Parts: sequence; C-alpha cells; structure tokens
Amino acid sequence: MKKSVLLAVAVFVAATSLFAEKVFAPKIEGDRIRDHVKYLSSNELEGRGMNQKGSDLAADYIAAQLKSYGLKPAGENGTYFQSVPMVGMKTLPDTSFALVPATGAPVPLKLADDFVTNNEAQTPAVEIDAPIVFVGYGITAPEYNWDDYKGYDLKGKVALLFVSEPTSEDPNFFKGKALTYYGRWTYKFEETARRGAIATLIIHRTDLASYGWEVVRNSWGGGKSYLKLDGTPKLQAASWITLDIAKKLVGLGGLDLDKLFQQAQSRDFKPIELPVKLKAHIDSEVTPFTSRNVLAMLEGSDSAKKAEAVLYTAHYDHFGIDKKLPAGGNIFHGAIDNATGCGILLELARAWAGTKPAPPRSVLFAAVTAEEQGLLGSEYLGKHTAQLRVEPILDLNYDALGPIGDPEEVEVTGAERTTFYPTVEKIAKHYDLTIRPDAQPGAGHYYRSDHFSLGRVGIPAFSISEGMKFKGHDVAWGQAQAKDYVDNRYHKPADEFQSTWDFSGLAKMARFGYSLGHAAATQPDEIKWLPGDEFEAAQKKLHEKGN
Ligand SMILES: [Zn+2]
Repeated sequence: MKKSVLLAVAVFVAATSLFAEKVFAPKIEGDRIRDHVKYLSSNELEGRGMNQKGSDLAADYIAAQLKSYGLKPAGENGTYFQSVPMVGMKTLPDTSFALVPATGAPVPLKLADDFVTNNEAQTPAVEIDAPIVFVGYGITAPEYNWDDYKGYDLKGKVALLFVSEPTSEDPNFFKGKALTYYGRWTYKFEETARRGAIATLIIHRTDLASYGWEVVRNSWGGGKSYLKLDGTPKLQAASWITLDIAKKLVGLGGLDLDKLFQQAQSRDFKPIELPVKLKAHIDSEVTPFTSRNVLAMLEGSDSAKKAEAVLYTAHYDHFGIDKKLPAGGNIFHGAIDNATGCGILLELARAWAGTKPAPPRSVLFAAVTAEEQGLLGSEYLGKHTAQLRVEPILDLNYDALGPIGDPEEVEVTGAERTTFYPTVEKIAKHYDLTIRPDAQPGAGHYYRSDHFSLGRVGIPAFSISEGMKFKGHDVAWGQAQAKDYVDNRYHKPADEFQSTWDFSGLAKMARFGYSLGHAAATQPDEIKWLPGDEFEAAQKKLHEKGN
C-alpha cells in the first residue's frame, strides 16, 4: 500500500515538476526536431507526395527512427507499417456538365470555371442524366431536431445544396456561430451518398465556405486520392458549382436562389425537385496504389491497463512534386505542414522510449499518410482500430506548427469537449501557457485535421498547437506571422525550411504533449466526450463493439 502511494506521488511529481522530468524522460531537444524537419522537407524527399517516391522515403525514415529508439512495431505482420489501399482519381478535360431544363436549350458548364467534380465511385467513365433536387443544407441532425429530407428519397437523383449549416447565435443550436461537422462539405457528400444520390452539387458561397472559388478549383483541379472502396456509399460526381451557376440553375426552374436560401433556414423546409436535369459525362484517370501509416508503440507497465493506449498522431504526407512546374520551384516542401508535426512526434517517441518505468497504459505513435487528400490515412486508422494491438483512449495530434519563438499560449480546440479538460488546464498552467480559444470557430478547423478521424469514431481527440502570443511579442505580431504563412507559403512550394527558425517553442509543445500523454496513460478515469457532444454516441458504439 505504502509503496503504491509512493509510486503515485512519484508519477505526480514526474508530470508536474521540472526536476522529475529529468528522471522520467530524456530532455526533449529542439535541435532534434529541427533535424527531422530539415530532412523531411529537403529536396531529396520531393514534397512527400501521394504515390510518389518521396512519401515512401519519408515513411521509411520515420519507421527507422522509431526503431532506433527501441519502440516496438505496431503495424501489420510485425512491421512498423499499416498498408492503406488507395485510388487516385483525376477528372479528365473532356468531362462535361450541362443543365437541361424541361423546356428550352441546355446550358453547358465550363470545367474549373463553373464547376469541379470527382468520381468518388472510382470508375473510369460515367454518364449521368438525372433530375436535380434542392435539399437546403442537406442535413439530418436529430440532436437539433433538424431534417432537411423529410423522408425524401434521393435514389438516382442529383442533390443541390448549400455548404455550411443553418445560421444561429444559440450555442445549443448547431453550436451557435461555431461550425459543426454538419456544415462541412465532406459531410454533404457522405450524407447525400448514404441517401442514394448519384451526384451532388455544392453551391459555393465564399462567405459560407470561408474560402474563395480559387481554393476549391485549385484543390480539386489536380485530382484527388481516395481510400479504396470499402462498401461505403460514394457519389459518381462529387461536385461544387459557383454561386452564379447556382443562380442560373434555379432560375431555369423559375426559382430564386436568395429565396431558396431563406427557406433553407427553416425546420419546415422540404426538398424541392427542380424541372432541370443534370446531363454529365465524367472521364477519369484511375490509379490504384498503396500508401502506408507508420506505427510504433511503447508497451504499458500495467498488465490490466496496457491494452489501452494514448495515441500521438501527425501526418507526414504533403503535395509532392509537380513536374509540370519548372524545376527549382516545383517541390511542395511542406516544412511547416507537416514536417514540424513529424519532428515533434519523433522527438516525443524518443522521450517516451526512455521513460522508465513505462506508464500503466501503452503509448502508440502513428505518422499517418494522405492527410492532404482528405484525412485519409487517419480515417483508415480510425476505421481499423480493431486491427491494432492496443485500443486508443485519447489522440493528441500535431499539424503545422510555426518554429517562430517561445509560445505563451496553446490551442487545444476540442479538448474542452472532453472530461480530460481539467487536466489539460492544469498542465497548461504548469507550462505557463494560456489556453487560446478557437479564433475562428465558424471555419470548422476541428474537422480539418487528423484528430477528427479519431474523434468521429468516438476516441477523444484534439490537436496541440501554439496560439498567437509569443515571448517578446504582442498578439498582433503572432497574427501577422500566421497571416504571412497562410498568404505566402501555406500549400505552396514556398513552405520551405529556414535556417533561422527557432525550435524551442516546438520543444515546449512537445513537452506539453508529453505531460498530457503521461497524465492520460496514468490516470484511473476513462476519458470521455462530454454528455451531448456530437461524438458521444460514437464513443458508446465503440465500447459496444468491445473495441
Ligand atoms: Zn496541409
């Protein structure tokens, strides 16, 4: 008894005092993070693109590092890898869309200028000739007593809808100003496909999407990768159309888009079948390939608890090399996005490997693939947790951190939705970090990084990143740095390693994550989504499966 009390005290001290950190974990070193970031974003790795040699080199490097720390392989067949079967789909230029009204001439649309589309059903060619149905926001959300479909059958039809969700200031209704998953375009494609639609047209409005048409066109123009079909319903034409085309389309049916938007704000909304058909021909280049998640683990010290694990994630992929661009400027280095997260993941793995004794629960490390293609590697991981040797009970994710100084704030958006939050607050305080609330809750950042793939299957999950306040600077300086990154380097070849970077802040974020992981791997209580959370049901289901 006495011994276990002492042990508990030691563990507590380890998580909270600097002295004990030396005892329990090797020092987390910013320079080691720097070396990983420099290598992973170097020319040799060619931007770590999907189905390109660079991403394989990155996965091999990460696995070799994890092995060198003495961590156990946690992938398939005793390896550090989990194969992720994927299919690249590229929409070819002879693809055509036309709006065909019941009376009058068809209106042809211009690919890229008026619409973008991808065949999620992964076939080389499809013909579509089907009626278009306006379904408002296309949302079914029983917890908000909201159903845009009212039993309407979308089978064989084309859904037309708005991105985002009903506007609200009430935090109990679609979380007020914050975006829920129902507002994301990924949800729209998933839900309409579940309801049997063959094609879906999302109406792009810059204000609702929080990004312009150019972003849509660029991110869909060069093709997309998907997880290989696994029985999940998929659209033959997952599409976006511009606001102007949407106005024209409903006008052909004698309706007014602004009025339809107003109607869509009501609970009483019912689908409206337009007297207009979509006639489409979609040709695609189909390229099956296999990518890999990299997995390693530290086994827990408690035989009863070690089947559970704290999971750390970071995606290693980026956009690769674009041979159509001139050499010298055609590599998307992805130094910040997300060589930084990988550097932190590896340094955490090294620190954990040296932690003696190991905590009661296990610790799992996953460098995931295909995040830039739509969180695919983590989606595969989340859908196949039963294949893992341990059950993840918490995911801590790192994605795109700026090595620009000593942070005095931390962002942990999503943590406040879990029972773990009081611990997060305590540990933040220990590191003198102020928790910065999500600056743009309406942009739905929670749904845009890998932690979401784990969250949606019920595992409490969030990302750790710096806020805006750095030592020696004001918040405005931090915001200016962030803006400069988004405007000039984000998802561009210019996201390159800089020798002037200061990695002390990333080391601090790693230490913070280490302490969170230590608390989660040690504490007796189960970490849960709070009652009423959108992922509460998924967590219950996960437990029912005996996962
Ligand atoms: Zn990215």
